[in-house]
Amino acid sequence: MKVIKTISEVKKERHNLKGTVGLFPTLGFLHEGHLSLVRQSVRDNNFTISSVFVNPMQFGPSEDFDSYPRDFDRDLTMLEEEGVEFVFMPSTQEMYPEGYDTWVDIENITGKLEGASRPTHFRGVTTVVAKLFNILEPTRAYFGQKDAQQLAVIKKMVKELNMNLEVIACPTVREPDGLAMSSRNTYLKPDERKAATVLYRSLKLAEKLYFEGERDALKIRREMTSLIQQQPAANIDYISIADNETLDEVDKITRPVLVSLAVKIGKPRLIDNLVLE
Ligand code: AMP
Repeated sequence: MKVIKTISEVKKERHNLKGTVGLFPTLGFLHEGHLSLVRQSVRDNNFTISSVFVNPMQFGPSEDFDSYPRDFDRDLTMLEEEGVEFVFMPSTQEMYPEGYDTWVDIENITGKLEGASRPTHFRGVTTVVAKLFNILEPTRAYFGQKDAQQLAVIKKMVKELNMNLEVIACPTVREPDGLAMSSRNTYLKPDERKAATVLYRSLKLAEKLYFEGERDALKIRREMTSLIQQQPAANIDYISIADNETLDEVDKITRPVLVSLAVKIGKPRLIDNLVLE
């Protein structure tokens, strides 16, 4: 496995590759959820490139960029064991040199849900992902359903900017008790870790109500809210039942919807979601 830090060198390597190339972009501090995407890429493509870059542009000024968990040596060992051929690990200076001014900004769907709480987040994500697509020219790029809005935003960017690659959505990998795996779970204290299962339990409650015939989104949201509020450590940021593509909130469920939520459990802010078809 080659670890490459500069854009010029990784472009040179990329141009020598014959066949399909899968890209797995990540902030690092890898867990089994990430590895499921890596494995899918290794299965689907002749070569897999992972980018490992804690992108400062997608963190707000009061967010956890400095304290975001990092263990690059461990990440590299894990990626090598999965059969990744190249890791692109640029510095911030390499990606955003002095005087950097160019942004990719997708309107409307980025203002909702995560975007409402994190106004500069998606501009940072789409800009870095567009740069990675241009630098690495992947045949396919792998993203997790865990970050459902990010997935929707990237699919929209690829479609509307006519980018020449396929976006592959991969299912959320969970701990045995249902908590969606996340690098930010490491912030949870033991009692908070227990309380954090309420995110998935509230999603399963929504699914149960839906399967029982409930179609009133407001009622489902109310039930989810009251379940979550039973946890003193939990602080709800949003609970949303929205059209799976436009992310517009719905009153009545008549088509596939994305049930998604963001909840602070102690310090960390956790997100999760489930699609009701
Ligand atoms: P991150 O480095 O945390 O930004 O994640 C890199 C990619 O892995 C993103 O596309 C995430 O959606 C995906 N991912 C993160 N956690 C999970 C999970 N528990 N299951 C599946 N994919 C995940």
